[in-house]
Amino acid sequence: MYDAYDPLKRDKTNVIAFFYDNDVNYVVMLWAIWMLGAVALPLNHAYPTEDLEYFLTDSMASLLLTTQNHKEKAVSFSHLGPTPVVYQSITSNENLAFERYDDLDFAIGEQWFLQKPALMIYTSGTTGKPKGVLLSHTNLHINILGMIDAWRWIGDDRIVHSLPLNHVHGVVNALLTPLYCGATVYMLPKFDAKVKLHVVFERFLERNEDYITLFMGVPTMYSLMIKYYDETYGSASEDTKEAIKEQLQKMRLFVSGSAALPVPVLNKWREISGHTLLERYGMTEIGMALTNPYRGQRVPGAVGLPFKYVNFMIGVYNAYVKGEYEVIVEGNQKEVTVTEGKEGQEGELLIKGLNVFSGYWNAPHKTTESFTSTGWFKTGDMAVYENGVVKMKGRLSVDIIKYGGYKISALEIEDVLQQNPDIQECCVIGVSDITWGQKVVAIVALKPNGNTLTQETLQEWARERLPKHKVPSVFKFVDQIPRNNMGKINKKDITKQYFGPKR
Ligand code: ATP
Ligand code: MG
Repeated sequence: MYDAYDPLKRDKTNVIAFFYDNDVNYVVMLWAIWMLGAVALPLNHAYPTEDLEYFLTDSMASLLLTTQNHKEKAVSFSHLGPTPVVYQSITSNENLAFERYDDLDFAIGEQWFLQKPALMIYTSGTTGKPKGVLLSHTNLHINILGMIDAWRWIGDDRIVHSLPLNHVHGVVNALLTPLYCGATVYMLPKFDAKVKLHVVFERFLERNEDYITLFMGVPTMYSLMIKYYDETYGSASEDTKEAIKEQLQKMRLFVSGSAALPVPVLNKWREISGHTLLERYGMTEIGMALTNPYRGQRVPGAVGLPFKYVNFMIGVYNAYVKGEYEVIVEGNQKEVTVTEGKEGQEGELLIKGLNVFSGYWNAPHKTTESFTSTGWFKTGDMAVYENGVVKMKGRLSVDIIKYGGYKISALEIEDVLQQNPDIQECCVIGVSDITWGQKVVAIVALKPNGNTLTQETLQEWARERLPKHKVPSVFKFVDQIPRNNMGKINKKDITKQYFGPKR
C-alpha cells in the first residue's frame, strides 16, 4: 500500500472517513489510512444521520470505511460522495489487548510524513456547528510526548478505554499515547458506570498480573460512577468500602478532562478511591495544554501548568491595537513570568507551540480569526493565574455573564451550587435582561430527596455563599441537564430551549 503512494506528487488532502466500534478494528483502520498517506476522519456511527451527513459532506471524504456491522448505514450515505468500502473485521473480540506494532515504523518518523495532516477531528459543537480540525503527525507526536512526560506513561501500563473515539481525548490521550509507549489498551464498546466500577476494576484488579493502572474520563463519567457507588454501596459496611478503596488504590492514576471538574466530584472520588483526580485542560485545536502535576499538589478547581513543548499566555484583548493582546502572564513548563501587578487578573488563554493545529478545514477565515498577529492561538477560554497555577473561568462566549458592570464567571457559581447536597447537577447561563444586560440564571436538576427545594430556599442558601450580584435571580428546575457524548452542556441550545432565541 505504501509503495503505491508518492507523497511528493500528491498536493491534495485525501480524507478517509470511517465508522467504528470501540475495538481493534478501529486501530487497524487508522493505521491503514496513515499507511496510504491519507487523513483519517473517525466518525461515531451512533450520531444522528443529520450530523453524519454534515461531517461527510463538509470533510469531502473520498472513502467511507466500515465493518460488516455498519455496512447498511455506510451505504446509505453513498449519495453524498464518499465511496463506501466494507472490510472483513479481523476479530470480534472486544477486549482484545494488543501491543505496539514495531514493524509499522516505515514512514512514520520521517520528516515529510510528520508534516502531513494525520487526523481530522470535529470539535464537540458546544458553541456552534462542529469545526473540522486538521492535526498533523507532528501535532500528535508532540502531544503524545507531552503526556508521556507529564503522566509517566510506561510500557507496563494498562488502560481501560471507553471514551468516544472521535475526539482527541479518546483517540490521542487514551489510545495513541499508550500504544506509542507499548502499553496495553482494553477497549470497551461504551461507557457504563456499572461495568466500569464493578466488572472492569474488580475483575482486572483481582488478577494481579493484569491490573489496570490508569483510567481517563470526562467529569460526567466520574459523577455516574459516584452515583452508582452510592446506590450500590452507600449502605454497605465500612469493611466493604475499605476493600473497594484498597482495590482502586492499586491503580496509579485517574485523569479528568474535556470539561470543568466540579470540586465536589473530586472530593467524593477521593473519598471512594483514595485518589485525587488529576485534572487537565485541552481542546481539539491544541490537544493537551495544561495539567496538574503527577507528583506534587493537585489543586482543586485548577488545571495546573503547561505540558512540555507548550507555551501559554493569559492576555487581555487590546481594543485599540487590532489583534493585539496585553500580556498578563506568559510561560512554559520551565518558567512562568507574571507582568508586574497583574497576577490574579482574568484574561483569555492563548497557546503557542508545535501542538497547535495549522487550520480549520475549509474555513480559512475562521483560522485567521483564531490566531493573533504574533501567532498565538486564541482558545476562547478565560483563565487566571494564581498561586502558581492556572484556573479556567469558562468560555468567553457563553460562560462570562455580563451583569450590569460586572463580568461574572458561570463556572464559579456552578461550583458553589454543586456543593448543595440536594443538587444533582446544574448549569448557569446569562439570559438577556433589559435592565442589567444579562441576568444570572441557574438550571438545576435535583436529587430525588431534594424535591422540596424552591427558588427562594436556594437563593437564600446561595446568598450565604456568594456575593449578592452572583446569586442567580432565576432557578429553573429540570429532570436532567442535556449533555453530548463528551459530557458537555451546550449552553446556547439550553438558553434557546428555555428562554427563546435571544440571549
Ligand atoms: P466547539 O468548539 O465546537 O464549540 P468544544 O470547544 O466543546 O466545541 P472541544 O475541542 O472538544 O470542543 O473542547 C474544548 C473545550 O473544552 C475547551 O475550549 C474548554 O472550554 C473545555 N475544557 C476542556 N478541558 C477543560 C477543563 N479541564 N476545564 C474547563 N474547561 C475545559
Ligand atoms: Mg471549541
